Amino acid sequence: MRVPETLLIPGPVSVSPAVLEAAGGPVPAHYGEDWVAVHRRLTTSLRGIFGTAGEVFLLFGPGTAALEACLASSLVPGDEVLVAVNGMFGERLAEVCGALGLLVHRVVPDGREPVSPAQLRRAAAQHPDARAFAVVHHETSLGLLNPVGDLCTAARELGLLTVVDAVASLGGVPLAMDTWGIDLCVGVGNKCLGAPVGVSPIAVGARAWAAVDDGRRKPAGWYLNLATWRRYDEMWGAWHPSPTTMPTNAMLALAAALEELERRGLDEHRARFARAAARVREGLRELGFEMVIPDEHASPVTTAVWGLPDMDVPDYLAWLRTERGLRVGGGLGDLSARAFRVGHMGRAADADVVDAYLGATADYLALKR
Ligand SMILES: *Cc1c(COP(=O)(O)O)cnc(C)c1O
Repeated sequence: MRVPETLLIPGPVSVSPAVLEAAGGPVPAHYGEDWVAVHRRLTTSLRGIFGTAGEVFLLFGPGTAALEACLASSLVPGDEVLVAVNGMFGERLAEVCGALGLLVHRVVPDGREPVSPAQLRRAAAQHPDARAFAVVHHETSLGLLNPVGDLCTAARELGLLTVVDAVASLGGVPLAMDTWGIDLCVGVGNKCLGAPVGVSPIAVGARAWAAVDDGRRKPAGWYLNLATWRRYDEMWGAWHPSPTTMPTNAMLALAAALEELERRGLDEHRARFARAAARVREGLRELGFEMVIPDEHASPVTTAVWGLPDMDVPDYLAWLRTERGLRVGGGLGDLSARAFRVGHMGRAADADVVDAYLGATADYLALKR
C-alpha cells in the first residue's frame, strides 16, 4: 500500500523520481566487482560532503546506531565525556553515552540557545579528566544549529576527542570535518542527502583511530565496532567491502541521490533548503506565526514554529495530512502540542510544495475562524 503524502517532516524525506527508480530495481548482491565500484563511488562522494580525507563507512542501520558505534569503539566505561545538550537529540546522545557506561557531564545553555565555546571551556575546566566532547550539529527538535566548527576547534585545543551527530546536517549545512577538528562524524542518507532510509555514513579521522587502537577494551560488540568495519574493508575490500549484507537497493538510491546532488552542486543543494526555509518562515510570519528559534541561530533544514495562541496544533497537523496530503512534524518534548516542525529537505524544498503548504495553512486558519 502506498501512502499518498508528501513529507515536510525533519526526515525521512520524499525523494525524487530518479532516486525512487534507482531503489525500485532488482535486488543486487552486496559483493563482487560491480558492487565494489558502487560502494567506492559512495564513500568517495561522501568524503567530499563530510570534508574529510579520513575513512567513510556505510553502516546499515539508523543514525543512532552509527553514533553508538563511534562512542562504543573509542571510549570505555568510566571515561568522562562532555555532551552538549540543548534539545531532544542532544539528550539522546547523552543517553547513548550513559548506556555505554560513560560518565556524562551535560553542557546546557540557558534557554533555547546554541552551546557556546565559552560554556564548553568552563565545563572542561570543571571536569579536567574528560576525554571526549559530543555534540549535535543541527538539533532537529528545535531547528537550531550549534556552532560545531568553533566548538570542536575549542575541544581539540582542550585535548578532547570530538564526536559529532551530523545526522540532520550532512549535505544541508556547511560541514568541514577535518578543518573543524572533528574526529568522528555521523550522517544518514534519508535526511539532507535525499535518499530513502537504510544507510548511515560514519567518517573516522586519525585521532579517532588512535582512540580505537589505544589498547583499552571497548564496550562495542562486533557489528557496531569500527574496528570490525575497518578489518573487513582491509581484508575483503576488493570484493565485499562491508562485514555483513547491505541494503543494496537503498544504497543504489543513495548513489542516485548523490549524483543529483553533485549535478546540482553542493552549494546549490544547500541553498535550495535555505530558500525553502526562508519562504516558509516569511509566509508563516505573514499569517501571524512566531518562530521558536530566531533567524540567526535557525537551521535552514528544519523550522520549529509556535502554534497560534488559539490553535489546536494536533488538529492542524491531522487536517494537513488528511485534507491536503502534507505531513508536517509535531513538536517534541516540551514543545509537544504547542509547536510544529517543518522540514525543508527533499521534495519539501520544491517551490510547488512550499506554496501548497503555505496555501493549506492559510485555508486551515480561514476555516477554523
Ligand atoms: C533524525 C535524527 C537522529 C536519529 O536518527 P535515526 O536514524 O532515527 O537514528 C539523530 N540525531 C539527529 C540530530 C536527528 O535529526
